[in-house]
Amino acid sequence: MRAMERYDFLVIGAGMAGASAAYWLAERGRVVVLEQEDAAGYHSTGRSAAMYMETYGSPLTRGLTTAGRAFLADPPSGFAEAPLLSPQQVLYIGRADQLEALDRLYDENSPRVPSLARLDAAEALGQPVPLREDYVAGGVLEPESLEIDVAALHQGYLRGLRARGGRLLTEAGVCALARNGDLWHAETPVGAFAAPVVINAAGAWCDAVAALAGVAPIGLEPKRRTAFIFDGPADGGVDRWPMVHDIDDAFYLKPDAGRLLASPADETPSDPCDAYPEELDIAVGADRIMQAMTLEIRHIRNKWAGLRSFVRDRQPVAGFDVAAEGFFWLAGQGGAGIMTAPALGAITAAVAAGDPVPEEAAARGITAAQLSPGRLL
Ligand SMILES: Cc1cc2nc3c(=O)[nH]c(=O)nc-3n(C[C@H](O)[C@H](O)[C@H](O)COP(=O)(O)OP(=O)(O)OC[C@H]3O[C@@H](n4cnc5c(N)ncnc54)[C@H](O)[C@@H]3O)c2cc1C
Repeated sequence: MRAMERYDFLVIGAGMAGASAAYWLAERGRVVVLEQEDAAGYHSTGRSAAMYMETYGSPLTRGLTTAGRAFLADPPSGFAEAPLLSPQQVLYIGRADQLEALDRLYDENSPRVPSLARLDAAEALGQPVPLREDYVAGGVLEPESLEIDVAALHQGYLRGLRARGGRLLTEAGVCALARNGDLWHAETPVGAFAAPVVINAAGAWCDAVAALAGVAPIGLEPKRRTAFIFDGPADGGVDRWPMVHDIDDAFYLKPDAGRLLASPADETPSDPCDAYPEELDIAVGADRIMQAMTLEIRHIRNKWAGLRSFVRDRQPVAGFDVAAEGFFWLAGQGGAGIMTAPALGAITAAVAAGDPVPEEAAARGITAAQLSPGRLL
């Protein structure tokens, strides 16, 4: 029998959530990250659209996104070899029957994001992207939204974890988890590990990990989202296009290395799994895009799907379970787990170590209570 290795923090899951939390936790104690796959980032983290949008999601999510901007724009020296962010404007569009939704987005966000611009039909149609005149009645432009180099951010966290003495173990799926005295004991195929605090950052599997530990679920609902890549117009130039986002989240489209990445913005309930795209979802997405834009979508170059996981109020969860001592949830990031990771990772490390929410988040009114799983009871 292998000896139990003792740590201060066990982190379950090496996606963006687990990696970002582990990076900051390693400043405070001995950390091991346990990942079931043979590569970190195989699930949702490796399948995102890589966007940073300060207008996206609930007010809490937007606050977390903004709180992380300074880290992404100016990471610590040695964190990444190239900038983590690059410009990628977002153009929300709407038909005549969607103008109120455009106004709402603009009114809710412009006090916090003053660069936001409400566009009339002519101004929206004047953007460098082929929108249909008989479809678009207005828009909102987010000029300072960005694209995140997701792989560089994720690897930066994992490299920093190692530099701080932490460990990442792959093919280390946690198959048993129990509280013995003051410690959580985790069993994996590569050994047994113990720590007083376990961070449940298992993405779509967070409720499944809780079940292993006999901890009550938080009602996490993984939902499948599909993405596909196709060629833009033959005359090129797509890299200068804004991301086009339907104001009611029926589709989006963005430049991707000379081609176009699109999604029907689907949210199909799913069990936690290795998600695969359905042809019907791709067809729906292509149809919606061709209704709004003068584009021909003929050949799909690549396609995938990933899971976005939500709790009841669609806000992220980062806090200790109310009943199970030392069991910390980092879950429910939905469609914003990359852009919110810098703030959520730092908050997780602080709160898990018994410290207050860090200043960048606290300054935006973010409290531990807002993120606590206790709010879901
Ligand atoms: C198509 C699509 C587009 C998206 N676009 C964006 C975007 O533009 N911007 C944005 O911010 N977000 C976006 N997202 C959301 C973002 O990808 C997720 O919120 C984020 O990746 C979640 O990270 P995570 O670490 O929680 O989950 P994951 O990356 O899924 O990581 C969880 C990890 O836990 C591991 N695990 C599970 N169970 C166990 C166990 N028992 N033992 C050990 N390990 C275990 C899994 O193997 C997995 O590696 C998008 C998602 C999708 C699908």
